[in-house]
Amino acid sequence: MASWADDTDPATPLDLTAELARDLIRFDTTNYGEGRSNGETDAAEYVAEHLRGLGLAPELFDSEPGRTSVVVRVPGRNRESGALVVHGHLDVVPADPETWSVDPFAGVIKEGLLWGRGAVDMKNMDAMILAALGDILGAGEAPARDLVVAFFADEEAGGVLGSHYLVDTRPELFEGATEAISEVGGYSITLGGQRAYLLQTGEKALIWIKLVARGDAAHGSRLIRNNAVTKLATAVAAVGSQDWPIRLTDTTTQLLAEIARILDVDPQRVGPDELALATGTASGFIQASLRTTTNPTLLKAGYKHNVIPDRAEALIDIRTLPGEEDAVLAEVASLVGPDIEIIVMHRDIGLETDFGGPLVDAVVGSLHRHDPGAPVLPYLLSAGTDNKALSKLGIRGYGFAPLRLPAELDFPGMFHGVDERVPLDALVFGRRVLTDLLSTY
Ligand SMILES: [Zn+2]
Repeated sequence: MASWADDTDPATPLDLTAELARDLIRFDTTNYGEGRSNGETDAAEYVAEHLRGLGLAPELFDSEPGRTSVVVRVPGRNRESGALVVHGHLDVVPADPETWSVDPFAGVIKEGLLWGRGAVDMKNMDAMILAALGDILGAGEAPARDLVVAFFADEEAGGVLGSHYLVDTRPELFEGATEAISEVGGYSITLGGQRAYLLQTGEKALIWIKLVARGDAAHGSRLIRNNAVTKLATAVAAVGSQDWPIRLTDTTTQLLAEIARILDVDPQRVGPDELALATGTASGFIQASLRTTTNPTLLKAGYKHNVIPDRAEALIDIRTLPGEEDAVLAEVASLVGPDIEIIVMHRDIGLETDFGGPLVDAVVGSLHRHDPGAPVLPYLLSAGTDNKALSKLGIRGYGFAPLRLPAELDFPGMFHGVDERVPLDALVFGRRVLTDLLSTY
């Protein structure tokens, strides 16, 4: 079937990357969390079919019915080098169609962009990986080193049924792998009027907790001091409004020094937050990488206007700097007080790796062959990725999904946001840079 880059311009054929990303968006792989999901199997079958078309023999793994991951090994030219894991996830977070200007699962192409849930996080990169592999293998060539190409289920709920499941039960799939590349890095930002790229070299730790307040169930007209909703609200306000102090890690120290150098300002006189704000659309990510954050994200209590419930619950999304998990948890406990129960629903480690070495050199080289002279800066991701699971096997993970973006597009703001969209030409750029990297590193 013919496909076109724009519904108003049927003369422009759609690049394969956009076609693959659009098709993947049309599989509604919503992951609601807490074990509820639409599943990834259909998207996994689609990916596997494409890989088979490239002469590869992908394996599919179901951690639970419907929760499918795909892994394939691609032999490289330099068998003595460590293997590189190139991975994406197939699930997406929920999208409320009421708040979107297009159907989030239709894969709409308009105004030179591909729209839909996953266009940013991260069916774009899934498609770039498939297209880059096709470019290399289709030309009768091989990647420079062995690749372990993985498309995981369940990343959006911490990877328990995806990357963690495979790392724990099938570690041999990743044998010989030393490094990994994946999402939330490699995209361009505009810094002092100049295009620069962020390479993700670390991730904050995450602790997802539930606060539970208990009180007296009673008629809504009674005088009740021990009200679960009131107690929970106090605790949530304390955690949510906590102003965590700035603490710089090696990565953020290096990043802020680079920003100051590019902007030609004195980092001793311009504070960390101010330097972070200079990164424009990325500042939301970068400010959050300078300190711990504790965001209340969900409240649950009560069932009728005139009934006081005996229980109220809140979910808090805690992201600490690497290594600070236990100290932050202790401080949260003292903020909410002994009357509130804290249940840790899920936790995972933080990561930080060097901005240097052969892979970083190769990434910078590939970017510079396609966007000469653009600075490449390290950054600490305020969120988490499947690199956390791979780190259990000693694999050093980076975020590198290369995209050259127009200055006015708030790309970081679209992760888990409404109207996710990615420029079609950014996908073509990503395909080329990734092909270059995998062919040469
Ligand atoms: Zn993601």
